[in-house]
Amino acid sequence: MKQFAVIGLGRFGTSLALTLTRMGYDVLAVDTNEEKVNNIMEKVTHAVQVDAMDEQALKALGIRNFDVVIVAIGQDIQTNILVTVMLKDLGVKTVVSKAVTELHGKVLERIGADKVVFPERDMGVRVAQALVSKNIMDQINLSPDYSIIELMAPVEFVGKTLAEGNVRMKHGATVLAIRRGNDVIISPGAKHVVNDGDVLVVVGRNDKLRDLEEK
Ligand code: ADP
Repeated sequence: MKQFAVIGLGRFGTSLALTLTRMGYDVLAVDTNEEKVNNIMEKVTHAVQVDAMDEQALKALGIRNFDVVIVAIGQDIQTNILVTVMLKDLGVKTVVSKAVTELHGKVLERIGADKVVFPERDMGVRVAQALVSKNIMDQINLSPDYSIIELMAPVEFVGKTLAEGNVRMKHGATVLAIRRGNDVIISPGAKHVVNDGDVLVVVGRNDKLRDLEEK
């Protein structure tokens, strides 16, 4: 089982630590702020009040034994960068750092962050995509041309099988799964009938997916 450490318990770090815990992972939460540590103490595996700039303190926590360490300090860019470097120097295998601007992200990549995340930027993109489309509920961009979307089943497909709806031939798209209430039907067969209210998880070219959305 992977072990995670989250450094910085702002909105992003807290949400991340709680979600990983809910998913069943061991999570160490670190912050300089006593109140933030106390607030999360009961909800994660371990929470400590430590300044991540203190190399000895990080060593004492056995930080290099964690599989993934996330630097979720956002506003204080200098600290975010220095802590990222320190973690790599200490031998942490995977360091994920939160960037607030593109330039900050480039710096993090250069100094050896294994993954850089832009939570505000990415959430802005997702919310915008969800706002402009009637039916698309979520979207994962696989490349500039291809995506996976979650789509409310278009009216013209309701009551028909996937074969009759002809999603693949007409739209060059493939239905990966159907969400129906709390159930998920993975890899539905061609004979599967689409119900009103179903959510289709579809992969395909962006232009074709847009056609599908207009239905
Ligand atoms: P968000 O934008 O996600 O709310 P913030 O940048 O506001 O993130 O929050 C960063 C958190 O990181 C704060 O709780 C702050 O106390 C903590 N923090 C800042 N510097 C350090 C440090 N050197 N060591 C540990 N935690 C830190």
